[in-house]
Amino acid sequence: MASREPAHWWDVRRAQNLKPATYRCPLCGRRLPALSEHMLIVPDGDSSRRRHAHTACVMEARRNGGLPTRGEWARSQPRGPSLWRRLTHRGGDH
Ligand SMILES: [Zn+2]
Repeated sequence: MASREPAHWWDVRRAQNLKPATYRCPLCGRRLPALSEHMLIVPDGDSSRRRHAHTACVMEARRNGGLPTRGEWARSQPRGPSLWRRLTHRGGDH
């Protein structure tokens, strides 16, 4: 397993790339032709750090509990008293 960018969560989307470049998949370390069907993984939603990865590698990482989405990461966090309550407590309509 290649080393990964440190990130709390990942934005995963389908890559649309018409540039005939070759990337290196950060999940398996193998080469990835840009014109083949693949995915973009974006650590913490920071597109300047986005990486191209094989669709199969992304699927496998997800199956193994890796590459959590923002929503999955947020749910795994301890519920802070302030922000969470503000989001769930709607101005006292009981
Ligand atoms: Zn791969």
